[in-house]
Amino acid sequence: MGCQFNEDNYRNQQIERHLADQEMGELVSNCCGEPIIEESIDVCSNCREHCKVIELGEYMYEQRLAAEEDAADAKRELKREQDDN
Ligand SMILES: [Zn+2]
Repeated sequence: MGCQFNEDNYRNQQIERHLADQEMGELVSNCCGEPIIEESIDVCSNCREHCKVIELGEYMYEQRLAAEEDAADAKRELKREQDDN
């Protein structure tokens, strides 16, 4: 025992590696994490919607928080289902 594969840790490691390779100050849209259309101030190049412009590092951080929240929600959901039975 003790050698269980931890998917969350693996994903975080992947993100950290990605972070290390990227220019974290790059400005991206908060909706998709994609670059802003050059001729615009705040239009996402992916979905073509106006968005909030944030740094890539901030986007990655928020993505990670959201992923952790999803994981926590899934655990709570699972527990509730078990309690029902
Ligand atoms: Zn977008």
